[in-house]
Formats: sequence, structure tokens, C-alpha cells
Amino acid sequence: MSATIVCRNPADAREVVATYEPADAQEVAAVCARAHAAQSYWGGLPGPRRGELLHRAAELLRRRDRQLARRIVAEEGKLLADADAEVSRAAAVLRFHAGEAERLGGELADGAQAQTLAFTRRRALGLVGLITPWNFPIAIPAWKLAPALAAGNAVVIKPSSAAPGAVLELVDVLHEAGVPQEALQVVLGGAEVGLALAADPHLRALSFTGSTAVGEQLARRVGARGVRFQGELGGNNPLVVLADADPAYAVGLASEGAFAAAGQKCTATRRLIVERPLYEAVLEAFAKRARELVLGAGGVDGVEVPPLIDAAAVEAVLDAVAQAQSLGAELRSGGVRPDGELRHGSFLAPTVLAGVGPGMRVIDEEVFGPVCAVQSASDLEEAIALANAVPYGLSAAICTNDLRRAFQFVRCSDAGMVHVNRSTPGGDPHMPFGGLKASSASGWREQGTEAVRFFTEQQTVYLHHGAPAAGESPL
Ligand code: NAD
Repeated sequence: MSATIVCRNPADAREVVATYEPADAQEVAAVCARAHAAQSYWGGLPGPRRGELLHRAAELLRRRDRQLARRIVAEEGKLLADADAEVSRAAAVLRFHAGEAERLGGELADGAQAQTLAFTRRRALGLVGLITPWNFPIAIPAWKLAPALAAGNAVVIKPSSAAPGAVLELVDVLHEAGVPQEALQVVLGGAEVGLALAADPHLRALSFTGSTAVGEQLARRVGARGVRFQGELGGNNPLVVLADADPAYAVGLASEGAFAAAGQKCTATRRLIVERPLYEAVLEAFAKRARELVLGAGGVDGVEVPPLIDAAAVEAVLDAVAQAQSLGAELRSGGVRPDGELRHGSFLAPTVLAGVGPGMRVIDEEVFGPVCAVQSASDLEEAIALANAVPYGLSAAICTNDLRRAFQFVRCSDAGMVHVNRSTPGGDPHMPFGGLKASSASGWREQGTEAVRFFTEQQTVYLHHGAPAAGESPL
């Protein structure tokens, strides 16, 4: 048996906020076997009936929203307003997929043979596994669970050990709404438990969100067994600011994109690429804004930047900043832990680096924290080249009033999601979400009407309605 999971308050590591008992490999196997056995009942319900239960779950979730948001703040550390928004997002996702459960249709056509109707239907895969990260502890689980359940799959979900409480509560809400206990189950634990789930022989598909290294490893493992794999992975997302943009607006986008949630969003702005005439002014104003941001615990009014998930995350970011400085990068703000009362939490001052380039981890890799690397570009072409010159392709943004150049950026960007005059994070629950290149190990999309594709397979049916009745002549 692995050690008890201990969640500490990211804003003050002296405080233990929750403990959980992890599963072991035998329990994972037993849970998967029970879920697999329950699938035919759940998948056999009419889609609209499953939709009704998801609608009810959305309503029940709304009734627990404050309590849930506070649990997210306690375990994950984000701002209470962000946790509130995340719970609302989870409810919206459940509602959207409640509708999708009613629309699990296909194509209908005349068959090539006379008196034949041809149609397609989408059916559930069977048992699916979901592995989720800690940084959106309820929204990401919801946007995997909702389409998986809407389609009629049985589900076993493994949340991150860093903040598993929200998933336990979400699953409880779904059970209370009427989803059978056996058809939807949770296993707790870290990499070992994730690996046991991925290795289960009943599994038809695995949907993973997390780091690129783990996602690529899992893709290889399950791919070798013919298990369908979806991987939503890391990013190193650029915001391009063209010379015609309003500098104050651009700095607002950069600051929100880079430092909200302490930069712990897969879509956070990690690189700011500014066309040369605005470079110095934007860099200066951005660094000033970074220095002014208020750090503190997620539940405290007026706080703008919450802590990182734990001390190891702070260390990893500081290492990357030091490595960039050792190669000539210039620190324009941050790069230090605050002192005073905040020293008990995993806080890091919002960090702006200039003079950056390839070879530095802030450019070549994903550094998951409040760090933004600023570069200048001589024109749009160079800005596009810099924006694309990383292995990742999750989100990208451009700030400009020139529609023609904005669309040139959209066309040439190697990112799965592109924002014009918005910051790199964000997306709507009714639109597809996902990356290109190393940001997605599979090309499947989450959210929106696309999401259910991953969790279903298609069947084509030919229905000959001219067959003779018993005793009737076929002519
Ligand atoms: P992580 O890869 O460390 O862990 C993700 C999940 O995988 C957790 O549940 C973890 O317990 C499990 N896990 C870890 N090692 C495993 C293994 N060897 N086998 C099976 N399971 C394993 O990521 P994290 O630190 O929880 O989350 C941050 C990362 O997630 C960042 O890289 C971020 O960009 C990424 N992310 C991506 C998206 C997206 O949609 N693209 C969204 C949010 C977060």
C-alpha cells in the first residue's frame, strides 16, 4: 500500500487540509472490472435519459458551488473567484453534454440497393479511463466525464494526488443525480495508480491531461495495446503584440495571460513577442505591472497572484530562471520568493525575463509558473517565426487593430487555439479545445460537439425494408 496522500495548503504548507488513502494495483483492477460489468446497463439507457441525469448533476453542482470552490482553494490554492468560475464552468460543461446525449445521431442516406436505408450510429466504447492534473481540479475532470458518460461509457477516473477533493465531490454529485455507482468510479493515487489504470485489460480508451513527458509515455504504452488515447499536454504559448496595438491593452492581456493563477494554466502566456517599435515601452510597462501585482492566499480579497501548487514547483521555476540568466537573460522583475508571512507558502513573485533565446528552458520547454520571456521581432513574419519556434502548439494570441495581419497570424500559427485581441488562456465550453505538435499526443479534441467523438465509435447500418414477409414472393 502506498503512503497516505497528504494535501497541504499551498498558501501555508504548515497546514494539512486533507488526507486520502490511495488505491493499490489490485483495487484498480477490481474497480475496473466492476465498472466494465456495469457498462452495458449504462450504455443501454436511451441517450436522452443519460442526458436528464447530467442535467440534474449540473443543478446539484450549482447547489454545492461555494463549498466546492472553497475546497479547491484549500487544496489547489487558486483565487476564490477563479475557483467559483471553475465550478460554474464544470456545471456548464455538464449541461452542454446533457444536450449532446440527446443528439447522439449520425448520417442518414438512401442505400445504393433499392429499398435500403443506410445510416450511421455512434455507440459507446465500453470502459474508459480518465487521468487528470491538479491545475483545474474540477473543470478538466468535468469536460472528460461529461462526454464519456453522455455517450454511455463506464468511467474510472484518477485525479491528481495534489488536489483530488473536487473530483470526489463531482463524482458524488453524479451518483446523487442517478449515474450508477459501479459505472462511474474514482481511484486515488499517483503515477503507480495511473499506470495500473492505463494497463487494465478492460480499457477501451484513455483520456489524459497533464505534462507532455507523461502523456507521451502513456500514449506509447496504451497505443501498443490498441487502446484509443487522447493526450492534452503542455504548452509554451506566445502573445504577439504588433506595433499598431494599444500598449496598455497589450500589457493587460500579457499580465492576465502570464500571471493569473500564478501562470499555472496550460494555456498561460509564457512568451511575449513585441514588434520592435513598441518593444521597450511594453517590456517596461509589463515588468512594472508584474512588480505591482498583489501576492497572497487564494481566499483573501484583493489578492491577484496565488501560490504555486507546492515548494517543488517553485524550485523548478527558479531553476529555469537561473538557467536563462546563466545564458544571458536579463531579469526585469520577480525571480524571488517573497518573505514575511508568505514565506510559509509556495509563492513566487511574477517574473519577467528579457534577452531570451533558444537553449533557455523558458523558450524550449514548458516552465509551469508565473514567468514570461519577452522577445522583440522586426516584423510580423519574424514574430510568427518566433511564435512557432517551439515544440509546443497549444494556444497563441495576437494583439493588433490590423485585421489583415491578425488573419495572417491565424493562418500561419502552429497552435490549436488562436486568440485575436485576447490573452492566450480561455475558451468556451461549446467550442473544441486542444493543441497541435507536442501539446497534443493524439489530435482528438475536448469540449464542444467534438468531445464525444473520442468516446464513441461509429457503426454503419444498412436496413433493407423491401424484404418479403414469410410466404410472400420476393418478386
Ligand atoms: P502530470 O503529468 O505530472 O500529472 C497528470 C496526471 O497524471 C496526474 O493525475 C498524475 O498523478 C498522473 N501521472 C503522473 N505520472 C504518471 C505516469 N507515469 N503514469 C500514469 N499517470 C501518471 O501533470 P500535472 O503536474 O498534474 O499538471 C500540469 C501539467 O498539465 C502541465 O504540463 C500542463 O500544461 C498540463 N495541462 C495541460 C492541459 C491541456 O488541456 N493541454 C490542461 C491542464 C494542464
